[in-house]
Parts: sequence; C-alpha cells; structure tokens
Amino acid sequence: MMPAVFVSHGSPTLPFDAVPAREFLRGLGAKLGRPKVIIVASAHWDTPAPALNAVERNATIHDFYGFPKPLYELRYDTPGAPTLAERAASLLADVGVSIDTERGLDHGAWVPLMLMYPRADIPVLQVSVQSRAGVAHHIALGRALAPLREEGVLILGSGGFVHNLRAIDWNGGLEPEWSRVFAQWTHEKLLARDETALVDYRRRAPHAAEAHPTEEHFMPLFVAYGAGGAAVERLHTSATFGSLRMDAYAFA
Ligand code: ZN
Repeated sequence: MMPAVFVSHGSPTLPFDAVPAREFLRGLGAKLGRPKVIIVASAHWDTPAPALNAVERNATIHDFYGFPKPLYELRYDTPGAPTLAERAASLLADVGVSIDTERGLDHGAWVPLMLMYPRADIPVLQVSVQSRAGVAHHIALGRALAPLREEGVLILGSGGFVHNLRAIDWNGGLEPEWSRVFAQWTHEKLLARDETALVDYRRRAPHAAEAHPTEEHFMPLFVAYGAGGAAVERLHTSATFGSLRMDAYAFA
C-alpha cells in the first residue's frame, strides 16, 4: 500500500535550482515506486469548497509571474483521471465536492511531480484546498480519500512547511530563528500524532502567523496526514532562500 506523502514545492524555479530539496525529490519517485494514479492536494488550487479536476489530459498551468522565461517553457502534460475523479467524489460526498472539467495542473502539482516522475505518464488528479477551513477540515478530507491508497493511488500533499513570501531572502541567507522554532514544534507534534495540538496550531505553535501568514501552503500537509497511516516519517528537511522550508513527510 502506498504511503500518503507531503512535500514542500518551494520556488517555481526548483527544477533549475541546485539545492538538496531538488535532489531529494528526484530520488523520491524511485523510493515510493510507481503508483497507478496520483491525487495531488496543491496549495495553488484554493477554493471555498473542495473540487476535483476531471479531465482526459492535464495541461501545464504556469501560474506564477516575473520568473525567467525557461520556466514558462517547462511542460508536464499528464493523462487525467476522470474515472478516479468520480470515485473520489463519491468518497467526498459527505464533505461536499464539485468537479472541474477544464483545469490542468498548477505548479504546486507539476514542479514536484516533474522531479519525482519525469516521464509524465502517470495519470494525475488534483483536489483543491480550502485555506480558511483549518486543519481539522483537511484531515477529514484526507481520511475520506484514504481507502484509495489500497488501490495503488498515491495521495500527495504539495505545499510548504514554512511559507512566508515576504520573509524570503532571495540571496539565500541563513534560516531565521522563528522559522526553525515553528518547524521543530510542528515536527514534534507530527511524530507524536498530537492531533489536538495540530488542529489548534494557530494558537499553540510558536510563530505560527509568521510561518504561515496565509494557510494554503500548510493545509496540504494535513490532507496527507489524514490520508496516511500511523507511521510518520520525515523524509527530508532543508530550507532555501532563508525561511522557505522544504520538509517532506510520509504517513504509512
Ligand atoms: Zn507554492
């Protein structure tokens, strides 16, 4: 059975950046093996209520601005998974879900997947996050999708372990203390599966609002947490551009 996995996707430039997180993602596909289908909960699809994209073929969405031209030439056009979308929609019936028949893959999905599975031949289905709905909602979303893991589906959350765009240091300075302290608190609560603390992280975690001024990059972690089993493993930890944490977890 596939674990559920959370990865931090970092800057859209990641495929061009020689950083440890890129090398980690390049090895992750082989480590996990080849799933039949991938469901990605990406920070870059944020809707008021959950949505799934049911398309025959995923187009590559370049949903970022002001980056170097070669980044806009990258493509990761994979098969879609409309049949699985129907099945996922039935699992999410209690949560409430809509189907989008147009949307392709945003960079939260294709940046890590391009590194993990470069052949772009595995069908991908995206599920949206709800940045204002909180941790418990996303754990429930993951739990509803969990049975799909038994059918060879990889459930992947793609966001950022610490994500504050205003605090990014493009010159690559040292990671600030507040970022390290927040990340360490989160790591400990994940390993302990302390759901009470995690659900209330906004009040309990040190520097929560600084680590996540908005919550869309943190919520994919909890989709993976909810979808996965009880064995929590940190797969990777690093920071780029100062405070942009690239940590990844498996929930097996
Ligand atoms: Zn992002």
